[in-house]
Amino acid sequence: MSQRAAISHKTVPEIEIVVIGGGVVGSCLATFLAEEGMEVACIDDQHHSGSTTNAGSLHVQMQSRNIRLSPQLMPQLEKALPLYPRAVSAWKELAARTDLDIELTINGGLMVAETDDQFNFLSEKCARELELGLRVEMLDRIQVERTAPYLGKSIVGAELCADEGKVNPLLANTAIKKLAVEAGVHFLKRLRVDAINIDDDQIYLETLQGQIRTSKLAIAAGAGAGRLADQIGIHVPTLAEPLHMNVTEPAASIIPHLLQHAEKSITMKQLAAGNVVIGGGWPAKLSGPEEYPTVRMKSLVGNLQLAGAIVPAIESLQLIRTWAGVNSITDGRSILGSSKTNSNIFFALPGDAGYTLGPLCARLVADTIQNRIPEISLSDYSPDRFSGNYHRMDREEN
Ligand SMILES: Cc1cc2nc3c(=O)[nH]c(=O)nc-3n(C[C@H](O)[C@H](O)[C@H](O)COP(=O)(O)OP(=O)(O)OC[C@H]3O[C@@H](n4cnc5c(N)ncnc54)[C@H](O)[C@@H]3O)c2cc1C
Repeated sequence: MSQRAAISHKTVPEIEIVVIGGGVVGSCLATFLAEEGMEVACIDDQHHSGSTTNAGSLHVQMQSRNIRLSPQLMPQLEKALPLYPRAVSAWKELAARTDLDIELTINGGLMVAETDDQFNFLSEKCARELELGLRVEMLDRIQVERTAPYLGKSIVGAELCADEGKVNPLLANTAIKKLAVEAGVHFLKRLRVDAINIDDDQIYLETLQGQIRTSKLAIAAGAGAGRLADQIGIHVPTLAEPLHMNVTEPAASIIPHLLQHAEKSITMKQLAAGNVVIGGGWPAKLSGPEEYPTVRMKSLVGNLQLAGAIVPAIESLQLIRTWAGVNSITDGRSILGSSKTNSNIFFALPGDAGYTLGPLCARLVADTIQNRIPEISLSDYSPDRFSGNYHRMDREEN
């Protein structure tokens, strides 16, 4: 069947640009483009969304988990570092633009050490991050007691990164969707793009509800992006990483910081309502690409035990919810902008700590689509880097 003979989508048969993926990146990107007058459709199958399952930590310093699991990726992780402080600023800009409170708080992040080896590891990391321009410093035990008296006695020191913080992702997602709707984005929800066909300068997207024709396409499809890119002859490796999350009942305010550990997988923070959100990369189960992720008891228990060792005051709290979500990993760096293969197809994949990077990545790609020079050069983040040998992030094996 020729492209033109296919049945067209009823409400959006053709449109100026389509964004595939309605997570934090796709929704922000669609919003920014629509605010500049473009006719935008955002298609999302709501199948594996990291953005609706994530923890809302705003990361800036390098996560020890990535260094431990993928040491071969240090150069990639270091290249990605300049994006993170700027990404936190992008969240501040977003928070200032919405009339909803997204509970954005930047109280700093502590990566804690329990042994001298871990402290030395953090000291080296801190020195390197200072060289690379991050606002980080080491705290010894006495300084830790002053800064974070709620931490357990086993903590011998910590690396403090002043720019780290948190948002409430449920509120932030709602705020972004509201901005998108106000800007006039056409959301096509629970709809999957099954195939992409290209005919001259036109792009045809095949869906169960019919074909959509466009001349520009942005792929912000998280872990689903690699499969879409393959169809148009572009190699963009994305891996679905199922991750575990826990959240406690509300408690009095205990933890102002974002907490991580020098060697063990954990992130911990407290929401405005008092719930303690605990995650940080413990694995969940994903039986196949069409399945939904499910929790692992080992992760549930291990994650909570570690949290209690770091902040003893939370040990008496009840767990009220546990869930699994799908993270999307690449080679440790964002994949942003168009490929040499087709200058009308743009990638907007944040890579590691993608919720933190979401609004910034969307802004950088929106600038590129609008033929503006983005504030950060995208040359280090090009999709064209995946020819020949490449290294991808590895999975957690707790
Ligand atoms: C449990 C968990 C906790 C996390 N915690 C944090 C954190 O605290 N801080 C942080 O910075 N990051 C965190 N992350 C990572 C972060 O959530 C993701 O990197 C980020 O949300 C990715 O956003 P995105 O918009 O690129 O992709 P997603 O939010 O994954 O959205 C992509 C969307 O595209 C859809 N899609 C894919 N293929 C198609 C198709 N063919 N047709 C239509 N739709 C399609 C998907 O179903 C999905 O809805 C966490 C991830 C998980 C899983």
